[in-house]
Amino acid sequence: MPYFRSAICLSFQVLLISALCLALLGCMENSVIDTLPSDNQRENVNALLLSATTNPGQKSLEHAKADITKTFGSVNRILLINYASLPNRRDAYAKRMKREFAQIGPGYTVKSLHAIPADQRLAAVRDTEGFYVSGGNTFLLLRELYGGDLLVAIRERVLQGAPYVGSSAGSNIAGQFIGTTNDFPITDIPTRRALGLMAANFNPHHPDQIAEEVEFGFRQYKIGEYVAHNQDEVVIGVTNPGMLRIQGNMLSLRGEGGTAYISYRGEKQTVSSLADGDISRAVESLRSR
Ligand code: ASP
Repeated sequence: MPYFRSAICLSFQVLLISALCLALLGCMENSVIDTLPSDNQRENVNALLLSATTNPGQKSLEHAKADITKTFGSVNRILLINYASLPNRRDAYAKRMKREFAQIGPGYTVKSLHAIPADQRLAAVRDTEGFYVSGGNTFLLLRELYGGDLLVAIRERVLQGAPYVGSSAGSNIAGQFIGTTNDFPITDIPTRRALGLMAANFNPHHPDQIAEEVEFGFRQYKIGEYVAHNQDEVVIGVTNPGMLRIQGNMLSLRGEGGTAYISYRGEKQTVSSLADGDISRAVESLRSR
């Protein structure tokens, strides 16, 4: 009889612990970033958001090489996050990115998060010196990062000063919300809230007004609708040659021939890399109208 009693007691304890673990996992998977970094935390943000990995007419990452090198500075150990790619393409993509980083500079060691065992991924994020988050489908990327609380851990590292370089989908998730991605929602996501490294949203591959009049009109219409409905949000659309640099509170446009189209409520401003590229000033002037 005492044997049965202790067996029941043990099973009850196992059940209780499992329930607690499940509840904890549930919370972790749903950790949502709903505040912007404090001024102190923001001072450490060092990010480069590419609109495109390949600028038409150039080799992959060629247009961004100098800015990537500058952003990473003395950092060599880079964690590649390629969850925007479909799962069966991630191995090949990681191989390609490792080759491309070898072209950017000889000192880089690139590890791909997808190839690290699931129970070690959080530690890999906390331990890395820098991030490269590649493009593909933004919904897929965000969904994978919500699993296992990776999104919150990445943000923590970036707010501690780890450089973050994103491209396209990887740039979308650096903003507050992914609402201005060009992608189809091929999967569900807990929320469209993302890393919130800046008080704005990104739109990659933004058409250029002069070169692509019709496409430009379509995109501006969609962004116009977005900012009319989301009155507190700023949207920064960047053309393929362009890159958005975040250094603390400073937002600037990099990339030869790049243009940024900034929208807030019903107002718009254009910033060109041929002029001073000062996006912060444009955002401030829109917000103060
Ligand atoms: N599909 C794009 C990319 O990562 C993202 C976007 O257009 O919003 O290349």
